[in-house]
Amino acid sequence: MKKDIFFQLSQNAAERLAERFGTPLLVLSLEQIEKNYRFLKKHLPRVQLYYAIKANPHQRILELLRDLGSCFDVASDGEIRTLAAMGIDGERLIYANPIKTGGGLQACCDVGVHKMTFDSESEIVKMAQGCPGATVLLRIRIDNSSAHVDLNKKFGVGRERAVELLQAAQAAGLDAAGVCFHVGSQTMSADPYLNALDLAREIFEEAAAAGMQLRILDIGGGFPIPEPKVRFNLKEMLKQINARLDEDFPNVEIWAEPGRFMCGTAVNLITSVIGVTERGGQPWYFLDDGLYGTFSGVIFDQWDFKLISFKEGEEVEATFAGPSCDSLDIMFRGKLTVRQEVGDLLLVPSCGAYTSASATTFNGFSKANFIVWEDLKDEIEPQPQAAMVG
Ligand SMILES: *Cc1c(COP(=O)(O)O)cnc(C)c1O
Repeated sequence: MKKDIFFQLSQNAAERLAERFGTPLLVLSLEQIEKNYRFLKKHLPRVQLYYAIKANPHQRILELLRDLGSCFDVASDGEIRTLAAMGIDGERLIYANPIKTGGGLQACCDVGVHKMTFDSESEIVKMAQGCPGATVLLRIRIDNSSAHVDLNKKFGVGRERAVELLQAAQAAGLDAAGVCFHVGSQTMSADPYLNALDLAREIFEEAAAAGMQLRILDIGGGFPIPEPKVRFNLKEMLKQINARLDEDFPNVEIWAEPGRFMCGTAVNLITSVIGVTERGGQPWYFLDDGLYGTFSGVIFDQWDFKLISFKEGEEVEATFAGPSCDSLDIMFRGKLTVRQEVGDLLLVPSCGAYTSASATTFNGFSKANFIVWEDLKDEIEPQPQAAMVG
């Protein structure tokens, strides 16, 4: 069971990979990406999946999802052109940024993207000029203060203006086809989705009363990955969402935009302790990856990563810092760990989403190298040896 929901290297594999490739090293499991994709397909059978590529735009992830038939959620000209260059038809993309740039709209024209989202009047004018006739979804604002990262403070229009904006889009010659929302990342209960679906249903009804037949509902992303200490039942969540979709939107096309769920559990970081000191009675460990690198998710994604040590012993509270010369570059304080020494390895599972995607090369430190586990696993961990006992 556990094996199915996230990818985690063995100590042996982590040590051999570190020796061969050096650290910091990111190890991607494409098998896990495929499992995650198939899981969502299975449990949301009516839903067309648009992978939100901002979570992790690694080329091999995009290629795999392209080959599995996924669609994609993009937010910029760069993301649009990346996918177009891989031979992905513009039909499979939604430009899901409620505020679009001139370059983004131009990219849509160039590669045939004609699905997009909006939440304001000024955007209607831009879309009607840049992509006449585009199929547009109105992003509605929902209340989800329980979201891990709540984007509803930035995007979405209130219900009271929804139908008016859809009508304005239609009047401008756009194909005003439906509504979209994003409950916010790592949402661990069905309730915010169900509340959003209630709101969407009201808007669908109000639009119908005004003579507009909406036909598409995009339920966004936010599907959670397993986190230490947090319990939730994803299958049950999806079952509730599904049941509500069948009840309230039986003849509507449903889309979703999962980001974190697709890639979060598919990557491990192997990082080394490169410095040790003690301050205020607490050990400090400096790692070769930091806040400006893979751990950028600590800041941008407010994520608390799990650090796995291969050493045994009593746990102490310690501070973990990155390799740069900036004093901001401290990832964790008071984190429980066994004592570390220079050269020790730490394994960080489930760090595939909002990590490498937002890493920088600040201070001249390269981003962590990426390797694909399935390219190497037969060599690193041959099956018969893995099954050997004692
Ligand atoms: C970032 C984003 C997503 C993906 O969110 P996850 O929490 O990673 O699933 C989906 N839709 C929109 C509009 C987004 O901005």
